[in-house]
Amino acid sequence: MVKNNDFIVEYSPMKICLAKHSGFCFGVQRAIKIAQETATRHTQVYIKGGLVHNELVCKGIERQGIKRIDALKDIASGATLIVKAHGEPLETYCKAKEKQITIIDATCPMVKDIHKKAKEMEARGYHIVIVGDRNHEETKGILGNVKNGLVIENKNELKEFKNAIGRKVGVVCQSTQNIENVSEVVGGLTIYTEELCFLNTICRPTRLRQAEIEKLAKTCQAVIVVGSKQSANTKRLYQVAKRINRNAFWVVSDNIRKSAFCRFRTIAVIGGASTPQDTLKSIQEKLS
Ligand code: SF4
Repeated sequence: MVKNNDFIVEYSPMKICLAKHSGFCFGVQRAIKIAQETATRHTQVYIKGGLVHNELVCKGIERQGIKRIDALKDIASGATLIVKAHGEPLETYCKAKEKQITIIDATCPMVKDIHKKAKEMEARGYHIVIVGDRNHEETKGILGNVKNGLVIENKNELKEFKNAIGRKVGVVCQSTQNIENVSEVVGGLTIYTEELCFLNTICRPTRLRQAEIEKLAKTCQAVIVVGSKQSANTKRLYQVAKRINRNAFWVVSDNIRKSAFCRFRTIAVIGGASTPQDTLKSIQEKLS
C-alpha cells in the first residue's frame, strides 16, 4: 500500500496465502497413479469420461495413450477400461463383464465407501436419498449402485419429491457437499418420514478444505478459488468463500489478469481437489 501524507511514503507488498489443504486430494492422486501405471502395462486402454475434473490432467492422461470414450459400445472386447475417480453405476461393470473388457478401478475409496453404505442401508429396508448434484458423475454412480434411489439437490426440491420419498429413509451425500446444504435437506426430510438414518459421507479432504477456506475468507481481503467449472468441490469452495467474502473469484487456470487483483493486500489462493499444484504455484508467482 502506498500512503502519501506529504511526509511518509510506505510500501507494503501483497501477501498471498496459499491454502494448506489445496490441490490434488488423495483420491485424485491415486486415480492418476493408477491410470499412469495402466498405460504402461496395458494396450488398448480407455476411459469413460474424464479421469478427474481437470482438463490439463485429462489431456496428460490421453497423451499417455489412454483414449476417452462416452459409452462402452465405443470399445471392442478384450480392451481395458479405467473407471474414473468419481465411480460408475453397477451397470457399467456388468456391461464390461459381458463384453469381456478388463476393468481397472480408479474410483476413490471414499466414493466406494458411499456405495457400500448406501447398499447396506437399502438391504436393511431404507429408501435411499442422495443429497448431491443430479448431473454429477459421482451422484449418478451412487444412484446406479442402489436399486431404488432418489437424488435431492437442496431443500427447495423436497416438496416436489414428497410423494417419491419413502417412510423409512437412509440418507447419504455426495462426498463434496457442503454440510449446511445437507443438514437443511435432512432436517426437511423429517417432515415426510417415519424413520430416518443419515450417514455423513462428505469426505475428509472436502471438510478440511471447506473449514480452511472459511477461515481464509474471513481474514484475507480477497479469495481466489482455482478449478474446473465442472468440479463440484471447487464450486462448493467458491460458494463458501463468496458467502463470507464478496471479493471471492473462481478462476479455471493460471491465466489471470493481475491488474484485477492489485488493489488487494492479502489474497488467499485455494485449489479444488483436481487442480494441479503447478497451476496454484503459477498463480502465486504471478500475483507476487
Ligand atoms: S474429493 Fe474426496 S471423494 Fe472425491 S476424490 Fe477426493 S478424497 Fe475422494
